[in-house]
Amino acid sequence: MQVPAPLDYERATSVDHAIELLERYGEEARIVAGGHSLIPMMRLRIANPEYVIDINDLTDDLDYIRVSGDEVRIGALTRHRALLESDELAAVFPIFRDAERVIADPVVRNRGTLGGSLCQADPAEDLSAVCDALDASCVIRSSSGDRVVTMQEFHRGPYETAVGDAEMLTEVRFPVKPNSSSAYHKVERRASDWAVASAGAAITMATSDPGAVIAEGRVGLCAVGPNTTHIAPISAALAGQPPSEELYATVGSIAAENCDPDTDTRGTEAYKRHLAKELTIRSLRTAVARATGQEV
Ligand SMILES: Cc1cc2nc3c(=O)[nH]c(=O)nc-3n(C[C@H](O)[C@H](O)[C@H](O)COP(=O)(O)OP(=O)(O)OC[C@H]3O[C@@H](n4cnc5c(N)ncnc54)[C@H](O)[C@@H]3O)c2cc1C
Repeated sequence: MQVPAPLDYERATSVDHAIELLERYGEEARIVAGGHSLIPMMRLRIANPEYVIDINDLTDDLDYIRVSGDEVRIGALTRHRALLESDELAAVFPIFRDAERVIADPVVRNRGTLGGSLCQADPAEDLSAVCDALDASCVIRSSSGDRVVTMQEFHRGPYETAVGDAEMLTEVRFPVKPNSSSAYHKVERRASDWAVASAGAAITMATSDPGAVIAEGRVGLCAVGPNTTHIAPISAALAGQPPSEELYATVGSIAAENCDPDTDTRGTEAYKRHLAKELTIRSLRTAVARATGQEV
């Protein structure tokens, strides 16, 4: 089946208007942002919304990257392409450029959005792992106002998030920490494909001294289980430790033990666990090298 079921379509003129429409149409309504996940699902009739609310005119309210001293705020309608091309964002969080270089192709990146990626909550969605590594918070708006949730609270499982029927994701916030950096590594079967597995790491060094220990670290994994948001033993193993290959290998093993991949056409469970370990090691190595000014 390649044709969506009949539906009503409305273009929101403001965020309040979008929420009003969501309230009016209830669980039969869906927002469309880039449409690169929703529309293929509608064509296959996996998703059958009766009302589609288009938010693409809301660029003034929802399409921005704002970098300040201690926080980055990104609007939900910000496209993959803008995340890839922003030098300001790459200077603070190089993990975004690493990931966006290997997400889909230019056609998808021109339209697909940060908000759509997170709300789709596909376990293979790269930006979920990026946001998890960066300890992001999600701003969810309803007619009663905004509420802010952690990535752990946001992701409830595959294709399931904390966003209710009459709510929308408006913004994602990221803390900026001194002496920190980040990196993302992905293995795909061919260029522009979804991940076989990937891992992102964000590292904060205790000081800028050459022998500083790691104050804090997080790893986000992608495509290796239904919900791999915030693996606490990884952060516990990194905190207070001097960076070393032994530490990266230990943390890689924790990642492999704490994921739950399936065997499918992309690879066996054992191969994906191996990738979770290896890509965690590589992401940590790159993030630490960047944080300490030693990246070659
Ligand atoms: C060929 C192809 C290859 C791809 N490869 C990759 C890849 O390698 N890695 C990867 O991570 N992704 C990949 N994607 C997915 C791509 O990143 C999509 O852009 C993304 O999944 C969804 O973003 P969207 O803006 O298109 O969302 P949409 O399709 O518009 O929406 C997706 C879901 O989110 C909801 N939604 C959207 N915005 C909001 C909001 N602000 N508030 C509440 N709900 C909202 C919608 O109602 C819908 O349920 C690929 C897609 C295609 C078509």
